[in-house]
Amino acid sequence: MGTVEEFACKDCGQVFEAEVGGGFLFFLFRCPSCGATHVMRKGRTDAEKGIDFKALICDPVEDPPLCPQCNIEMKTGIPPLCPQCRSGSLRYQKTVLSYD
Ligand SMILES: [Zn+2]
Ligand SMILES: [Zn+2]
Repeated sequence: MGTVEEFACKDCGQVFEAEVGGGFLFFLFRCPSCGATHVMRKGRTDAEKGIDFKALICDPVEDPPLCPQCNIEMKTGIPPLCPQCRSGSLRYQKTVLSYD
């Protein structure tokens, strides 16, 4: 399950919402440079045809998306960044919503 959480930046005080985590059905990629996010569904074709657990647990790094702004590979499992100063030093405030 993915969530949207509210953070406050410890460096500049900016309060913002960021998507965190991935779900059973998707991966959440994040640009390590600008913090932009991209959601990719797992095992898109096979999983939708029927049950294919191999597709559901496939490794996403084979074909990582590129950040449209920075043109570098986005990664899974990296924490959100402050959209204002790019700091990773954040204080968790609250969960805004959860989704699958
Ligand atoms: Zn900041
Ligand atoms: Zn970027």
